[in-house]
Amino acid sequence: MRTVRAAVISEVERPIELREVPVPELERNSALIRVALREVCGTDVYLHQGRLEGVPYPLIPGHVSVGFLEEIRGSLKDVEGRPLSEGDPVTFLDVHRTCFQCWHCLVAKASTRCPDRKVYGITYGLDDGPSGGWAEAIYLKPKTRILRLEEQYQERFMAGGCGLPTAIHAVERAQIELNEFVLVLGSGPVGLSAVALSRMKGAGKIICIGAPNHRLKTALDAGADVILNIEEAGERERQQRVFEETLGRGADVTIEATGNPLAVVQAMRSTRDAGRVVVVGQYTDHGEISFNPHSDLNRKHLDVLGCWGSDFSHFHRAVGIMKDEKLCAPWESIPLTRFSLEQCNEALDSVATGPLVKALIDPAL
Ligand SMILES: [Zn+2]
Ligand SMILES: [Zn+2]
Repeated sequence: MRTVRAAVISEVERPIELREVPVPELERNSALIRVALREVCGTDVYLHQGRLEGVPYPLIPGHVSVGFLEEIRGSLKDVEGRPLSEGDPVTFLDVHRTCFQCWHCLVAKASTRCPDRKVYGITYGLDDGPSGGWAEAIYLKPKTRILRLEEQYQERFMAGGCGLPTAIHAVERAQIELNEFVLVLGSGPVGLSAVALSRMKGAGKIICIGAPNHRLKTALDAGADVILNIEEAGERERQQRVFEETLGRGADVTIEATGNPLAVVQAMRSTRDAGRVVVVGQYTDHGEISFNPHSDLNRKHLDVLGCWGSDFSHFHRAVGIMKDEKLCAPWESIPLTRFSLEQCNEALDSVATGPLVKALIDPAL
């Protein structure tokens, strides 16, 4: 049986090991993709720390990847009905098996909550073959949503990474109106994409609060007008600054993309009466927080919206943005740091401790 080299999380908190993983016989209408670039993101850190539910260890992490179709069995088409061929440069939606048959999919119209969905690199394990991006190749099961992504766009698509479709979903939930004040809490990959997309949506002043300074500098490049370092300004000072920048009212829309539960309350307190708060940064469980239901929520007449994951529409838009020479500009300024597959532990450490803006694993190294 042929094998591919892959980085495997065997169990929580154990160093990641390189292993030869067998490639199963390709089912009808499936494919093997030779991986060119894959990301290292906060979710991979949480996987390694055991903070996500329903994860079948051992597994190969890496959910957003780009590469080339190496082998196809049967026939494959993209969503526009165009056939895909061996050798085509592609990316694929990491979410698989959304059923479009269940109550969540059909009645609630919340397909990201479909109980049948599986995610490459997160809820598919080694039993599913090479099913994560930190490998030489990934086995794409039948009905995986694949889109053509020419080689010249692959790197910038990865600069957005999984944060881009997530941020597209968050900005869609936020329903930003022209010239509104937008506050983005967090300057990680989701926060930076939320800044760029808010600008694209016609926001007026965009304020980004985060850390460290080089990420905030990237936020300015991505379209923020005002940046504030959370390590240099206390909660009160930050809130005061937001009110000063928004005619004393607070932000029309706040997008929370931090991973810190405290930021959810700060988001509510920094938003104007009858404004919107979108909570997208609490993808993993970081605990509880208290707030005052009267003064923070009810009296303010706030809309507080959760935003879980992303679906094919967000992924499709992300690919389209990266193929557009004008729209893609904000992501061109995101500094990328590349690691080899052998350096995957180092890459994960760097993302966990936060000094990098975006880390990629590149097999060519
Ligand atoms: Zn479903
Ligand atoms: Zn990710």
